[in-house]
Amino acid sequence: MGGVGSGRQPAWLTGSPSKETTEDYFALDIREAKRYGLIAPGFEELPGIARIEWITSGFGAPQGSDCYLRPWFRCPRKECGKRVAILYGWIPDTGAPSWACRTCRDLCYPVEMGNRVERAGIKMRKRRARLGPGPEKPKRMRHDTFVRLGHQYLQAVKEYNEAGRESIAHHLKQMEQERIKFDL
Ligand SMILES: [Zn+2]
Repeated sequence: MGGVGSGRQPAWLTGSPSKETTEDYFALDIREAKRYGLIAPGFEELPGIARIEWITSGFGAPQGSDCYLRPWFRCPRKECGKRVAILYGWIPDTGAPSWACRTCRDLCYPVEMGNRVERAGIKMRKRRARLGPGPEKPKRMRHDTFVRLGHQYLQAVKEYNEAGRESIAHHLKQMEQERIKFDL
């Protein structure tokens, strides 16, 4: 897999796809967005991503001034709305990216992970069906077509296994975090 974002990642998206998963998470830092001129004082929204709030801050103020206005994102998840500097974009196979803060990202992750396993399973079964009942080539199918479809099916099996493994690894990691948290 070449990575969904490899060809599409705008310069202002920092970081690389998360190592935890082959799905791509991108970190969007509002300070970077400001540096790249995507937002300017007074902007109330980064369209399609999140609302912006300007808060007085003493830190990083230009010399000679006491304070300045610092932009923050409001996490776009309805039930959250937290003020954060960084949003994480999850880029699905199809459709628009969804954005959320770190907390929401961690909460949503297992669902998205589960969806990914499910999607990989559907893809795998579809490709298997194209091969016919097996083990022989369906009579009317050309040999090279059969070989090509066979390889596509094997690729889907591989992706399905990878998704499953990553899902399990994530849950083990979560369990370990709980264990540390409660000193069990
Ligand atoms: Zn959030």
